[in-house]
Amino acid sequence: MSFYNVYEKLKDQPFHTWFNEVTTTDVEKVLRKDRLTESDYLTLLSPAAEGYIEEMAQKAHRVTLQHFGYTMQLFLPLYVSDYCVNTCKYCSFSVDNVFPRRRLTMEEVEEEAQAIAAMGIEQIIILSGESRIHSSVDYLTKILKVLKKYFSSVGLEVQPMDREDYEKLVGSGIDALTVFQETYDENIYRALHTKGPKRFYNYRLDTPERGCQAGMRSVTIGALLGLNDWRKESYIAGLHGHYLQDKYLETEIGMSFPRVQPNAGSFQPEVHVTDKNMVQAMLAFRLFLPRAGIIVSTRETPQLRDQLIPLGVTKMSASSSTEVGGYAQPEETQSQFEISDERSVEEIRQLLHKKGYQPVMKDWQIV
Ligand code: SF4
Repeated sequence: MSFYNVYEKLKDQPFHTWFNEVTTTDVEKVLRKDRLTESDYLTLLSPAAEGYIEEMAQKAHRVTLQHFGYTMQLFLPLYVSDYCVNTCKYCSFSVDNVFPRRRLTMEEVEEEAQAIAAMGIEQIIILSGESRIHSSVDYLTKILKVLKKYFSSVGLEVQPMDREDYEKLVGSGIDALTVFQETYDENIYRALHTKGPKRFYNYRLDTPERGCQAGMRSVTIGALLGLNDWRKESYIAGLHGHYLQDKYLETEIGMSFPRVQPNAGSFQPEVHVTDKNMVQAMLAFRLFLPRAGIIVSTRETPQLRDQLIPLGVTKMSASSSTEVGGYAQPEETQSQFEISDERSVEEIRQLLHKKGYQPVMKDWQIV
């Protein structure tokens, strides 16, 4: 059994009709319920639910407090390599884009770690372009040895790997995995990823599950909103989260809602996903899976991020750089995408305190 079996049953369903048949009475009924079914989740993603964002927000706030209290985890991404063998048109690191590529040496990793640690950050995610050669298990293990001196939790967002590789990395101290399916629509996925190992839809789809099986403490998934109908993508991503949460009780499942951002290519999103659309997707997910983490990055504007804090978010990045070596030597290389919120870690901490939230810098210690 794989999530693909769930997807297969859904892929040819008339989502457009389903969403448009939902009435305001249906939405009101769902909002009175404590536990939501898959069909209730679909209801909250419908156009009819757009008029109930405020009610959804209030309920999402209450539900989040029950499970997480007034806390917010803070983390930073650490880009270690921009070598990539794939050709995603929506990303600056695509192998088709020509720019001087870079991979950090261990000395440079140490410099980056010191710059990040000086901001008070204790949780990081290692990011790279997808290349088994440049971001090999061996290279990542060496990096981890350096990072363990500075951080209490180190996650991974690199190319999908086999379970055995994840097991090795978990054994070395990696505790979290992030992998976005980009789009759950198999046809759009294949059209967007024509070359490189990323073209294998099923291997990517099963990656979060391999991470759970390998013993990752937390696994974060998501769809890149803007590549397809955001309601359908959010729905299937939510069911994927549900599938993982039900099957791997010991793993914390998280969801991210990234939207296509300006990048080095000329790619334009297929669908314009507004702030309101993104908020609706997030609120519906929170009400469907109250225990799941919700992660918001600095892709979003400061104004939006401020508003999202009480609506279900459990983890935020702050003062991020999306370029390799971007903390110790900013603006020397190509960034993966543009960020919108450039406020410092200290500014975000103060903002959280002002809103009554406790910034959580550490909830785990690498063994
Ligand atoms: S999205 Fe990932 S796989 Fe695609 S080009 Fe960018 S770094 Fe490479």
